[in-house]
Amino acid sequence: MSPAMTPARSRYDAVMIGGGHNGLVAAAMLGKAGKSVLLLEGSDAIGGMAASREFHPGFRTAIPHLLYQLHPAVSRALRLHRHGLRLAAADLPTIAFRQEGGTLALGDSRGAGDAGADLLAFRQRLARFARALAPALARTPPRLRTRDLESLATLGRLALGVRWLGREEMRELLRVIGMNVADLVEENFADPTIKAAIALDAVIGNAMGPRSPNTVYTLLYRLAGKTGHRAGAIALPKGSMAAVAEAMAAAARAAGVEILTGTSAARILVKDGRSAGVVLPDGGEIASDLVLSSADPRRTFLEILGPAALDTNFVRRARSWRDRGTTGKLHLALNGLPAALAGAPARYLLPGTLATLERAFDSLKYGDLPERPPIEIAIPSLADPSAAPAGKHLLSAIVQYVPYRLAEGDWSNRRTGFVETLLGTLEAHIPGLRAQILAQEFLTPADIERMTGASGGHWHHGEIALDQVWMLRPQPGMARYATPVPGLYLCGAGAHPGGGITGLAGYNAARQAIADGRTKERSRP
Ligand SMILES: Cc1cc2nc3c(=O)[nH]c(=O)nc-3n(C[C@H](O)[C@H](O)[C@H](O)COP(=O)(O)OP(=O)(O)OC[C@H]3O[C@@H](n4cnc5c(N)ncnc54)[C@H](O)[C@@H]3O)c2cc1C
Repeated sequence: MSPAMTPARSRYDAVMIGGGHNGLVAAAMLGKAGKSVLLLEGSDAIGGMAASREFHPGFRTAIPHLLYQLHPAVSRALRLHRHGLRLAAADLPTIAFRQEGGTLALGDSRGAGDAGADLLAFRQRLARFARALAPALARTPPRLRTRDLESLATLGRLALGVRWLGREEMRELLRVIGMNVADLVEENFADPTIKAAIALDAVIGNAMGPRSPNTVYTLLYRLAGKTGHRAGAIALPKGSMAAVAEAMAAAARAAGVEILTGTSAARILVKDGRSAGVVLPDGGEIASDLVLSSADPRRTFLEILGPAALDTNFVRRARSWRDRGTTGKLHLALNGLPAALAGAPARYLLPGTLATLERAFDSLKYGDLPERPPIEIAIPSLADPSAAPAGKHLLSAIVQYVPYRLAEGDWSNRRTGFVETLLGTLEAHIPGLRAQILAQEFLTPADIERMTGASGGHWHHGEIALDQVWMLRPQPGMARYATPVPGLYLCGAGAHPGGGITGLAGYNAARQAIADGRTKERSRP
């Protein structure tokens, strides 16, 4: 790690802990509001999980690989296009490998490929439902018992979005939103590959099987973003997902934010019961009345702040927050592409069937490795030459249902066997793949935790489950981003509305902190 840099000043209006994409968005919003902001990123690169890495000479990747959730409110506010964000592919089609062999083209955001009109109609309906929820995701969750105008406005927008659907669609949304995704797809489709592909999109990143409650909600959450003006479109940014973070960092710098990498916040300073700044690893103090943390809730509350500043109930809940990651990442440096992958850029899925998905989830529950791992594949180098040396290709694969901790053995003696399972599964659908491999790496959730600092290596910094979303994220009573320590806010994926490259937690938290500051100003005698 490079030596820590020194901040230019000893006091700022706001200090941001963490330079993942949410920290960058929040810092930019605060800077645009005229605040002096210092952003401290513990690692050597900005971007957090979306930071760029060279895993083999010339092969660059990040942990997230596809852009589909970026919220238009964030792109607009930060003018990400003006700060260099470009898409290498704007609307990738999805192709599913069938369990029994062969493929099924599932189309892109505008068509359903070979899967037909039923899938298109189903997608369009889900897109309408997601659109009804989307405006409320870009706001602080409302207080339940309140008359404050902001909360009423959020509830009003949500109600209006749902009402706009019309009576029949509104009833249908209310019927399906609490359902599990398996029941929903069973109602609508006969084809086992279509059912499993939709279910995989609903469960990916969470410790949930297709029959787990609230998996229709997780699917709608995934669909609520809009990339390149198209809802439901799956994009590949030029320069990998790191380019999204770089555009956000450029917006932050343009707004006057000072960004220091290789510099951790060792501790949050609390004076007279309020956050008063941060302590650097060398013991130096940076004073600020406003501190925001985009680190995950467990790290923020139990390590950087520390339990002494919190009441016992809060600490108990923070300890039982569910944030054990469920997804691994496989990267392959390829000499060339086998025929099955050599067409136009696409997202490929190996979803199996609803039954194999549910069984793989069972393995996860018992700390075991799935026999048939569900996989999502992207080949960024097909659309973006910067991902791999000329003529070579990068295969980036997300593997769902990889336990954080194994019930038997550990990753040091199970890794090789599991990578063998993965390569065997891939080779069965993509003949000739193994012969093209120049280098490979497999990252478990524990590796992702070590590399990124996100507790459990969890996709969302904590499950998107009914008891951990909206007004309950990350704890009842603190969904308004403010923590029990006045002046300290949470603004990463562990805050509302959750993870994925959306930028929303950072956007909402900064706006809330600015609004709270104004209220405080007004109420001063
Ligand atoms: C395997 C996997 C695949 C994924 N694929 C996708 C995908 O394809 N598309 C998608 O949209 N999403 C994907 N995601 C989810 C997405 O990557 C995350 O939800 C998102 O990056 C979280 O961003 P964040 O800014 O909230 O937090 P993070 O990216 O975790 O950033 C937090 C930052 O805080 C820093 N930090 C922590 N403690 C300190 C400290 N004390 N001092 C200073 N800095 C500190 C960390 O170093 C880090 O940079 C994936 C996640 C995983 C695990």
